[in-house]
Formats: sequence, structure tokens, C-alpha cells
Amino acid sequence: MTFKNVTVAGSGVLGYQIAFQTAFYGFNVTVYDINDEVLEKAKAKFDILAESYKKDLKATEEQLAATKANLQYNSNLAEAVQDADLLIEAVPENPQIKIGFYEQLAKVAPAKTVFATNSSTMLPSQFAEYTGRPAQFVALHFANEIWKHNTGEVMKHPGTSDETFNSVLEFAKQIGMVALPIYKEQPGYIVNSLLVPLLSAALDLYVNEVADVETIDKTWMVATGAPVGPFGILDVVGVTTAYNINKMAADKTQNPTKIKVAAMLKENYIDKNKLGVATGEGFYKYPNPAYWEKNFLK
Ligand code: NAD
Repeated sequence: MTFKNVTVAGSGVLGYQIAFQTAFYGFNVTVYDINDEVLEKAKAKFDILAESYKKDLKATEEQLAATKANLQYNSNLAEAVQDADLLIEAVPENPQIKIGFYEQLAKVAPAKTVFATNSSTMLPSQFAEYTGRPAQFVALHFANEIWKHNTGEVMKHPGTSDETFNSVLEFAKQIGMVALPIYKEQPGYIVNSLLVPLLSAALDLYVNEVADVETIDKTWMVATGAPVGPFGILDVVGVTTAYNINKMAADKTQNPTKIKVAAMLKENYIDKNKLGVATGEGFYKYPNPAYWEKNFLK
């Protein structure tokens, strides 16, 4: 299977990045969302994104003009998928919305179309039966700021065919991703299976007053050679996401450390709008965080 026409469903935070990246690499891309108003907003965001491609990838005006020419928009699902070889789903992280979307999609997509979900926290097997084509369904997970953090985690569910898996891995490479095959379903894929425990351990050390933020980061950076420590990473991910994960764990387990972590993040960071890089301050102050200073690791 080779893909040429790609439909991206959902033009939110990740969807519009996926659409732009795919168009940048020469595919015909149709962006689908619930109405034309939302699609108009996506078009405006593409102009901002183009600036990041210039800055970070040294993209030329010609490349960006070609990218825009490869993008089409349609709020009618049947029309948006009528020629699609591949549909990438980036609709909200809500199981009911996703199920409703796949039920609708299954009715209108041509038999050839392969479906890929970008869900971060749900498994493809949760949706496989609603796609009407479980063998042609797989997860393709991107990271935020896809043009820079170019992981393409391709994860099978038990019913995914090898042909689908291999074709989507190949596609991920063709759009500039480092294609990462994941043979078995794993909540959090590889990246979050590694990252969530690290960040959680760092927060636990801090709220239990074992060490302060900078010492924990320094330890990680010096000991492993990593360019940033767990609290620096938390600022990039966003304190709100960390709070949501810890609050959920606290409510579920009543673990005293998790309860302390959730309260600390809420009172000292969220309530003070210190949400990380996005608001200019989190555990560090931006644009020049302390861990970039020459003497930080001394
Ligand atoms: P978002 O809320 O920013 O965007 C969702 C988009 O889907 C919106 O434009 C919305 O109008 C649209 N939408 C709503 N209902 C729809 C429907 N029925 N059909 C089509 N479009 C619909 O969400 P997001 O952050 O872009 O996340 C989308 C998916 O990507 C989620 O599964 C999420 O787990 C995953 N993801 C997000 C990130 C991230 O950093 N935000 C990273 C990796 C993966």
C-alpha cells in the first residue's frame, strides 16, 4: 500500500500540525473538522506554523507555498474522505466523540482507506470494532511540535494487518518522522511509558522534601547527560497536564504523596498561572531558564 491522499480529521492542537507536516512532504491533504468556522481558524494557524518551519527547518517560501497548495479543507466527512488512502484521526481525547466519529466514518470511507488514530491515552483496540475495518486500523502517535519532536510511534492492536502496520511505518518516514514500530498495545506508547514514571518520581521526591527542584534536575542532567531535567520537561509538557494526571491518581488511589503533589501543583503553580513555558513561568522562568546557565551543573 502506498499513500498519496491523506485526510486529517480534527484541526486542533495536533491535527493542524499533522496536516501541515504531511502537506510539507508533498502529500495531498484534506483537513476535516466539524464546521467551516473551525476550518477557517485552522487556516489562520497554518500561517503561524509556517513561521516555525522557516525558523526551525529553514523552509523556503517555495516550499511553504507548495505546502499550502497541497492543503484542502472540507467539513463534509463523505467528501473529505472520498479519495483518501489514509485517514489520520486527531479528534478530541474523549471515547464517546471518537466512537461517534468512527461509526460515521465507517459508513462513508472507501474500502481502501487505512485509518490511524493519534490518541495519546486510549488504545486502538477500544475503537477497532467501530471502524468496520479492524485490519486496516492502527495507532500513529505524534508528539506536540511534530516538526521538531518528530517521533512517529506506530502501534498495532491485535487485529492490525502487517501490511497496514508496515505501510503506516513507511508513511511516517516519508513525512520526516523517526518511525518507531510498537508491536503490542501499550498504554502511553514508548515515550509516555518512560516519561510519566520519571516525572512522577521527580514530583514525589520534591513534595516529600527529599530535594529541591534544581537539585533533582541537576542530578538527572549530570548523571545521564540529558540536556534537561524532569522539572524542565514538566514546564514544556505544561503543569496543567501534570496536575490532571496526578489529581486523577490521587482521587483513585488516595495515595498521600499523590494528594500532596496535586495540592502543590494547584496552589503553587496553577492558581498563580505558572503553567510552564506557555505562560513564561513554571518551575523555571522563561525564555532563559536557570538550567541553561553556564554554572547550573557546577
Ligand atoms: P484539540 O481539542 O485541540 O482538537 C480537536 C479537534 O477536533 C478540534 O478542532 C475539534 O473541533 C475537532 N473535532 C471535535 N469533534 C470532532 C468530530 N466529531 N469530527 C472531527 N473533528 C472533531 O485536541 P488535540 O490536542 O489536537 O488532540 C487530538 C488528539 O491528538 C487526541 O486524541 C490527543 O490524545 C492526541 N494528541 C494530542 C497531543 C497534544 O499535545 N495536544 C499530543 C499527541 C497526541
